[in-house]
Amino acid sequence: GLDKDGKIRMRRYVTAKETPETIRAALQRPSQKSTEKIMAIVNPIIKDIQTRGDKALLEYTHKFEKATSLTTPVLKAPFPASLMQLPQETIDAIDISYENIRKFHAAQKEEKPLEVETMPGVVCSRFSRPIERVGLYVPGGTAVLPSTGLMLGAPAQVAGCKKIVIASPPRADGSLTPEIVYVAHKVGAESIVLAGGAQAIAAMAYGTEQVSKVDKILGPGNQFVTAAKMVVSNDTTANVSIDMPAGPSEVLVIADKTANPAFVASDLLSQAEHGVDSQVVCIAVDLDENEVQAIEDELHKQAMALPRVDLVRGAIDHSVTLVVSSIKEAMELSNAYAPEHLILQIADPLAARDMVQNAGSVFLGQWTPESVGDYSAGVNHSLPTYGYAKQYSGVNLGSYIKHITSANLTAQGLKNVGGAVMRLAEVEELDAHKRAVSIRLSYLEQQGGKA
Ligand code: NAD
Repeated sequence: GLDKDGKIRMRRYVTAKETPETIRAALQRPSQKSTEKIMAIVNPIIKDIQTRGDKALLEYTHKFEKATSLTTPVLKAPFPASLMQLPQETIDAIDISYENIRKFHAAQKEEKPLEVETMPGVVCSRFSRPIERVGLYVPGGTAVLPSTGLMLGAPAQVAGCKKIVIASPPRADGSLTPEIVYVAHKVGAESIVLAGGAQAIAAMAYGTEQVSKVDKILGPGNQFVTAAKMVVSNDTTANVSIDMPAGPSEVLVIADKTANPAFVASDLLSQAEHGVDSQVVCIAVDLDENEVQAIEDELHKQAMALPRVDLVRGAIDHSVTLVVSSIKEAMELSNAYAPEHLILQIADPLAARDMVQNAGSVFLGQWTPESVGDYSAGVNHSLPTYGYAKQYSGVNLGSYIKHITSANLTAQGLKNVGGAVMRLAEVEELDAHKRAVSIRLSYLEQQGGKA
């Protein structure tokens, strides 16, 4: 990230002067740490929680969070007001954000069950039900993240999940931040598990004396959290699912000549400060040397003023600027990269949005910094990273809902579709399947076709 003149600067490529292979390589994400090593740490922790429950859970919290004074791992609702003492400004900010997230996710509700008559007398329906019990992981190791509690909790509440459990590592004095407790209260959580890492995930997946077992676990976290989510979701005895694989945060900004260099730099840095693993990409559409330089100068200047400048340096080390010749080329590169966040600081962002094939969430125009989506606009910030935007959606109302189908046939319906069913059952040599139809059709024939 530091070049000869001591500046914090991203590598720069002009795509017209490079081979496609070079550009592909430049957009490689930083490789993630060896999963084998992580599994060797995580698996014994999960086993320990399964066998020793709360006692083990507390021991890990004493060890990793240094919260040796903690004597019980769960705080049950209703949460005492004394644990949510906050400045009015913070309460207002949480309330506004909560309301916007709630509104946007409530609008995602299905009006009524779907019903289709596929053939005369053959009616297929689909209806939805909330997942009953969800566990929401709110990371807490290096920062306070009440926004993640809102992003995971508000949609769960809107969906109608019966039991919402929040897990978050406590501070060294054994307490939770008042922000987390207030958010848990707002979203109607039944309890807060004061634990982090693999042990918190295992406790919610299997349940302990005090921790409620859940049906699905959602939320970001470090590599131990992610590995534990993978393990429990692959264990049929846990019978639990997860939201998505997670990796470090990333952003791709597309900027044309209309973009303000200071705004572009501020958006790049708002992701770079997440951590040294983060990656940011700037695609400059038809900018000349001076215009690219202006963004680079702003990036350096703003980065130096950040308290987290060391994290930023690490992230900038594996970040790039690509200079391209058209919006179309920019969108093709972006779709191939599949960014978690895509920011369009260009003259006609709405037209470009139509070209988006792969992205977690898109931010349109110069007045839409990604930060508004991280906190308060209403869109969700739990999004697919590491190229998984190609096949995963970010957290949304559907993440808390499952669909059930029903079929309903009349006698005529069975007559209409029965032949196809019996033939396919024959092909698959499943005689009992065939008989379940033929026995009914014979009955109908005996009744003289009346039923
Ligand atoms: P965390 O809550 O994810 O992890 C803390 C836990 O890690 C500890 O409780 C401990 O159990 C475990 N741990 C730490 N060192 C360990 C070790 N050596 N062995 C076993 N377990 C260990 O908090 P964090 O570490 O600060 O990580 C937060 C992560 O969440 C970051 O990677 C951040 O980028 C990510 N995040 C992502 C989003 C998003 O929406 N994409 C939002 C917020 C945070």
